[in-house]
Amino acid sequence: MFCNQCQQTLGGVACTKSGVCGKNPDVHSLQENLLYSLKGISAYAYHARELGYTDPEVDAFLAEGLYSTLTNVDFDLQRFLELNLKAGQTTLKVMDLLRRAHVETFGERQPVEVATGTFRGHGIVVTGHDLKALYELLRQTEGKGINVYTHSEMLPAHAYPKLHAFPHLKGNLGKSWTELRPDAASGVPGPDVHLGDRRAAGSQAPRRL
Ligand code: SF4
Repeated sequence: MFCNQCQQTLGGVACTKSGVCGKNPDVHSLQENLLYSLKGISAYAYHARELGYTDPEVDAFLAEGLYSTLTNVDFDLQRFLELNLKAGQTTLKVMDLLRRAHVETFGERQPVEVATGTFRGHGIVVTGHDLKALYELLRQTEGKGINVYTHSEMLPAHAYPKLHAFPHLKGNLGKSWTELRPDAASGVPGPDVHLGDRRAAGSQAPRRL
């Protein structure tokens, strides 16, 4: 285990064999897994909320799960096992909530052809998961001579009729999102706009391709 969750941590670095507080490695692993699950659930719930969709059970579980890791007085293994199982159920629930939010807002997905090259004119390359932000970008660049390209994980955006209807949503460029910086350095043109991945957020003025 490697726990540096609190100020009691061993030597001011981390508890590695067992916790100064009494936490054992199994509970630590379950807490870690729960935290990663909560991060994922939060991301999906956030995007759904942006579109006006919420689920009180999802919100309640986020509070319950987070609180369970904030206290270091209850290390009941069975309780954390149950919270992890509930995290799995809540993940399915929030995925369905976001699917419904996307489909009811932007239309049921349809198979479409997506160009992979570039077109003459200014261009913006967009990555991330935030379809609402992409919609706003498309709406605000409409008729301005700026082409918008998706990058990797934003590719499915083309399948939503309300997004596909924008003629300046031109195509998809690049590989996976982890390759965004190398892609940009090796010839994928235009500024990059990250929607939904604020760790790598950056922006520039549109560039003519
Ligand atoms: S929560 Fe427990 S195991 Fe983790 S750093 Fe604090 S004392 Fe160590």
